[in-house]
Amino acid sequence: YAVYAGSALGLVMLTGYLLRRHYRRSLKGLLQTGIAQQEFTPFYQPIIDSRDQRVVGFEALLRWQCMGNHVPPAVFIRYSEEQGLILPITEQVLEQVIIDLQKLPSTLWVSVNIVAAHIEQPLLRHLLQKHHWPSPERLNFELTERSPITKIDTAMREITALQQQGYHFKLDDFGTGYGGFSYLQRLGIRQIKIDKMFVDTVGTDDLKRTVLDAIIASGRESGMEMIAEGVETQEQVKYLNQNGVYLLQGYVYAKPMPLSQALHWLKQQGS
Ligand code: C2E
Ligand code: MG
Ligand code: MG
Ligand code: MG
Repeated sequence: YAVYAGSALGLVMLTGYLLRRHYRRSLKGLLQTGIAQQEFTPFYQPIIDSRDQRVVGFEALLRWQCMGNHVPPAVFIRYSEEQGLILPITEQVLEQVIIDLQKLPSTLWVSVNIVAAHIEQPLLRHLLQKHHWPSPERLNFELTERSPITKIDTAMREITALQQQGYHFKLDDFGTGYGGFSYLQRLGIRQIKIDKMFVDTVGTDDLKRTVLDAIIASGRESGMEMIAEGVETQEQVKYLNQNGVYLLQGYVYAKPMPLSQALHWLKQQGS
């Protein structure tokens, strides 16, 4: 029995391994095709100043239309990074954002998500040189705290150089990851995005909400500009406002939309 069970388990494991390998191989192929066919496009989700209900900017969120299916970024970003395919994907998003920025009101900015590798070498800087965009203050970059920056000196140099050119940086998913505030200060970033995970605690978990309170308090103390993401309810809007967080993003206002829809949405808002 033991022998039988052992080999059956072995077979299951081997099949699982082969399937995984097959899946990962084909995912790589699909990504390469996606890059060649330009299947990556940004959707836009507004960020609102809840004090006067005005839109201040948009976040560009990558959408992959792969053989008629929509594949969410969570499924392929990390893998693209591992396979060295993230840079051409970022380039496609950036190219499109630069085109779309010209159709958006000139008072609005767009932020693009990047990964650490883009600033651990002068990759982002080179991309921006190649696709020259004349209004850097309208282009922001979000760097996630979920994965750490290992080459901190190079990253600092790159961020500083780009900030001097007028680009802004935000730390995304703040509170979920590594360095906290010391990390921020070392990177010279003045804006944080409070992760949805903490916003979710408002009205659901008073104990965990104290973590949100602590994040907000230290953000305020360090003079950070704060944006809360994943805001879904009026109760959350009210709570964040009462605690001094006014820049909000979430389904309570709008979901990420293709540009044409975002332009239509702006008109409806009277912006
Ligand atoms: P993120 O940058 O923190 O983006 C916020 C995510 O929360 C987005 O998911 C957005 O659609 C979702 N979201 C916003 N408001 C709400 C809400 O009220 N309720 C709920 N349930 N969700 C909300 P999305 O678009 O699936 O993106 C997931 C993550 O993928 C992003 O998290 C970002 O880390 C990454 N990502 C997206 N686009 C890009 C990209 O162009 N480049 C890179 N490197 N990463 C990207
Ligand atoms: Mg983001
Ligand atoms: Mg975010
Ligand atoms: Mg997030």
